[in-house]
Amino acid sequence: MRYVSTRGQAEGKDFADVLLAGLADDGGLYMPESWPRFSAAELRALRGLPYAELAARVMAPFVGEAIDFADLQAMCRRAYAGFSHPAVVPLVQLDTGIFALELFHGPTLAFKDLALQLAGHLFEHVLAARGGRVCIAGATSGDTGSAAIEAMAGRSRVDIVILHPEGRTSEVQRRQMTTVTAPNVMNIALKGNFDDCQDMVKAMFADVPLRTAISLSAVNSINFARIAAQIPYYFAAALALGAPEREVAVAVPTGNFGNVLAAWAAKQMGVPIGKFIVASNRNDILSRFLASNDMSLRPVEESLSPSMDIGVSSNFERLLHEFLGRDAQATARTMADFRATGKMSVAEDVWRAIRRDFTGFRLSDEATLAEVARTWREAQYLADPHTAIGLAAARACAPVGLPVIVAATAHPAKFPDAIEKAVGFRPALPPHLSGLYERQERYVTAPNDFEQVKGLVRNFANRNI
Ligand SMILES: *Cc1c(COP(=O)(O)O)cnc(C)c1O
Repeated sequence: MRYVSTRGQAEGKDFADVLLAGLADDGGLYMPESWPRFSAAELRALRGLPYAELAARVMAPFVGEAIDFADLQAMCRRAYAGFSHPAVVPLVQLDTGIFALELFHGPTLAFKDLALQLAGHLFEHVLAARGGRVCIAGATSGDTGSAAIEAMAGRSRVDIVILHPEGRTSEVQRRQMTTVTAPNVMNIALKGNFDDCQDMVKAMFADVPLRTAISLSAVNSINFARIAAQIPYYFAAALALGAPEREVAVAVPTGNFGNVLAAWAAKQMGVPIGKFIVASNRNDILSRFLASNDMSLRPVEESLSPSMDIGVSSNFERLLHEFLGRDAQATARTMADFRATGKMSVAEDVWRAIRRDFTGFRLSDEATLAEVARTWREAQYLADPHTAIGLAAARACAPVGLPVIVAATAHPAKFPDAIEKAVGFRPALPPHLSGLYERQERYVTAPNDFEQVKGLVRNFANRNI
């Protein structure tokens, strides 16, 4: 399989190159040259497979010749063996026609583990074959950092540096990062906010001598390998509900648009998904676009679902590229306009076509707590605030007759304060994290100053040389 940039100016790459590169050189995002198709018979043949096996088969066409199938299978098995539920991604019915697809049984209790646990193995495999070593850098406001650290800790060809804003992540989230003591992990608590952390990482990538000297790499959600690893669970859930004979809908709590794009990719591959419900908190750029063909930037506001507090949904560029008929020039032009004006609208027929597939939904913090409380009362099920927004979206927007798969993106114990507000008690951490509050933390603190951060990162990456 070859990959092309949404902006058309970067050279085509294979899966292994896309994994290591993340973003394309022209600023665009990599997309597979075409969508692999599974026939109805091929879909039926996936029914009942263990999740790791299903994941390997669904991902195989994306990986192509870059990695042997037997190696991919072995990596999927190892990646998902560490999940605390034997089904890896169990599907739980919560109401007539409403099903929670639990994506939070990985080591850091959020859906990002599904892609990042596998990415850890993929990086190690590809680098071993090439004889290289990389230093992954990233900024986090919470979930991404811990999932990336947990995936990369202890690997021999990867170092990882994660910057978090000092004092601005939840204690669970910070401890999930800082109590990992593997020598290839560095946590930097930056004296600044999340945007400062992101700017710092961008500055590292823009510093070409640094970037080359330490082979800087990234695992953010625009990496296509992460999208590819999020597609199989939509196959698994739809098959469990009767696909390919029965159509389903999905509702996905959305930030950067990666998870819902993976669902849309599953449809291109043959899974009958009739509707994609895009659920957001008050940071609702996507639901505003779907309601009125107006994607305009607004300042990011804090909410009870912090992993969806975003100003721009970077993976939307991939969908745009598809709906513009894969016209890379038009995509590049639209994105350049958006950057310049902070606004985007698309031709009326394009917008209508997007709306045939996608419905937007937004929910306030107050209504999110009410949904957590309702789900607890009616189904004795504790949904975290992100999942609750997905559930409310499913209740409000479900197309008649279609069962809705709601992506349950985080474990409620990750957000104990919000849960307590809604139902009056704090959920317990699962057993593997129960000692989290007693464990030793390790991180360095840094001022919001590029030269100092750069020095820390360089020394860390060069520590063994
Ligand atoms: C990252 C995250 C999201 C948003 O996912 P996107 O792929 O960025 O849309 C939603 N919920 C939780 C709990 C997350 O960690």
